[in-house]
Amino acid sequence: MQDRPTILLNPGPVTLSDRVRASLLREDMCHREADFAALMRDIKTRLAAVYSEAEAAFEAVTLTGSGTCAVEAMIDSFSSRERTTLVLSNGVYGERIAAMLAAHRRPCHELRADWREPIDLQRVRTTLAGDATIGQVVAVHNETTTGRLNDLAPLLDLCAKFGVELMLDAVSSFGAEWIDFSHPNLVAVASTGNKCLHGIVGIAFVLARKTLFVHRTSLADGLYLDLFRYQAAQLDGFSPYTPAVHACFALREALAELADLGGWRARGVRYRQLSERVRSRLTQLGVPAYLEGDVYSSMISSFKLPVGWNYQEIHDALRAAGFVIYAGQGSLYQEMFRICTMGDILDQDITRLLTAIEELLCGRARQ
Ligand SMILES: *Cc1c(COP(=O)(O)O)cnc(C)c1O
Repeated sequence: MQDRPTILLNPGPVTLSDRVRASLLREDMCHREADFAALMRDIKTRLAAVYSEAEAAFEAVTLTGSGTCAVEAMIDSFSSRERTTLVLSNGVYGERIAAMLAAHRRPCHELRADWREPIDLQRVRTTLAGDATIGQVVAVHNETTTGRLNDLAPLLDLCAKFGVELMLDAVSSFGAEWIDFSHPNLVAVASTGNKCLHGIVGIAFVLARKTLFVHRTSLADGLYLDLFRYQAAQLDGFSPYTPAVHACFALREALAELADLGGWRARGVRYRQLSERVRSRLTQLGVPAYLEGDVYSSMISSFKLPVGWNYQEIHDALRAAGFVIYAGQGSLYQEMFRICTMGDILDQDITRLLTAIEELLCGRARQ
């Protein structure tokens, strides 16, 4: 296994497959030429087809940037200036959305939960019932801060009951977790090419209901994040600004590979196999999961730092063994670490990882 690259166990960017990496080594392309327009249209079609329920009613609009860029473009383009947007946060990424709404001066109400806790649906219900100004809800699907998969079905039911729209940050779930695009209250979903889709960093996207582009006008207060500008230019495959052309090569290949491997369901199953293996072995080694219960997404797990260890020591030892793990954010740096099974990871990689962790922890115990 000495020819394996360093394995990234962070939640994106991911360890690339050989197939995606090879796609980068092709002739250069100008984004104003017909061949690029054809590539872009292909990517848009494939993005909308990842979930067959999205294909007819949603349009994928791509833009150059990371996941945050897509989330902010969605907020900037679609969040009402008159009605209140309710943000449900239980981690870094939900709080970032509330900060975006504030930066764009949109009326916002944040229901903030502790990072260890689920979204309290009873509180959501009471808030929606008590505030008729709320027109939209924004939530994070897979809260990468801890790896908790927030439950969408009851949230969408509440949105339907109160007649409000849901916009979703699915940056770390699109391509591996179920998203109910058939639900009429789901209007826009933001994600990126370099997490569950296994492309490289550079292209992010928003899947939005086509009707939004027909019946509304943009609310964006700038140019670069205005999804309506991209949508109009991309109808024939072009882009208002220079897109990350090479990231498009990779994304097209990654989407073809995803389809060949069985689509989002198969990817979710594969991720879960690996992450359950990691969680069960670490539990045996005395490193329990950070969250209680069966609440994790298929690919992000968080663990309590074992007593007597700090993150840097564990990180450095595993880095030397060929693995990059991921720290807790903010105050969680002192409490936990994360292991993510996104990317082109083999069974043998996880075997080597678990051996390295065992040797590390047991070596210390023997001293
Ligand atoms: C990674 C991530 C983001 C931000 O994406 P960047 O690519 O780092 O800008 C936003 N939301 C969630 C849930 C994420 O996992």
